[in-house]
Amino acid sequence: VGVSGAVESVKVGEESAYLPGPVNAGLFKRCMIDTPWDEEPFRGLDVGYVLLTHGHADHFRQARALRHAGAKIIAPRDEALFVERPDLNRRAMFSWANPPPEMVTSFFRGDSCPVDEFAEDWHSLSVRIIPLPGHSYAQVGYLTADGVLFSGDALYTRELWREYPLPYAIDTGLVRRSLATIRELEFTHLVPGHGAPITQDQADEEAEHHLRRLDELDAILLRLTREPRSTEEVIKGLALELRLRDNLAQYWIAVTVIKGHLSHLAETRRVRFFLRDYMVFWQASPGE
Ligand SMILES: [Zn+2]
Repeated sequence: VGVSGAVESVKVGEESAYLPGPVNAGLFKRCMIDTPWDEEPFRGLDVGYVLLTHGHADHFRQARALRHAGAKIIAPRDEALFVERPDLNRRAMFSWANPPPEMVTSFFRGDSCPVDEFAEDWHSLSVRIIPLPGHSYAQVGYLTADGVLFSGDALYTRELWREYPLPYAIDTGLVRRSLATIRELEFTHLVPGHGAPITQDQADEEAEHHLRRLDELDAILLRLTREPRSTEEVIKGLALELRLRDNLAQYWIAVTVIKGHLSHLAETRRVRFFLRDYMVFWQASPGE
């Protein structure tokens, strides 16, 4: 018995469908990939397995309710802890200290849920697990037998970039590799965690655009650090340039994403860093 009888589901493949929402929830046979924000869209559906792409609370808001109704919760091994302990994600963004609640993005707020099995150990003949890290530590995508890739937050489409000029990611090197993985895969449609589904050709174009945006962010950071700049100055400089919202939740997202870029630029020796007057400074390497 499939779940195609879903009230508001939209078909994307022979058998695959999704429930549109702030986070898209995929549907394939008796599997749901990530969850909607409300109970309403999946009421009456027979969900055997909830396949989570990663441990950000906005992607598993209803996991508890679905588990209570009998579904098994499946998550990548190195993301499962964050599903069971969302407070750890909140602490991680604050260098493991406990952040005041006002500083925490709503993406990290949610109810914990026990994980029944790791995605890596969950064997299905009709769903392939594709590692897509970078947005989070060990995110995966799920590729169904009818050729639909549910990609979590690995690929941001232009639709998303317009709204979020600095989308969340922890490691730009890994994001780049995961985008390359997506471009090498065979599928008919890609359903991103946020935004409308796209065809494989569109996904290829969007992945290229995503990579270009990462290059542009690197270029801005290299320009901002022609003179040595403290971490806070770099954050402010980039935020002003991208006209980011000036609020605490956005600030902490920016801190992580910018550190992700700086770390990658340091690793590839395009920026150097040093400590002066109790502050860390970043400076573009000569020739950048
Ligand atoms: Zn996420």
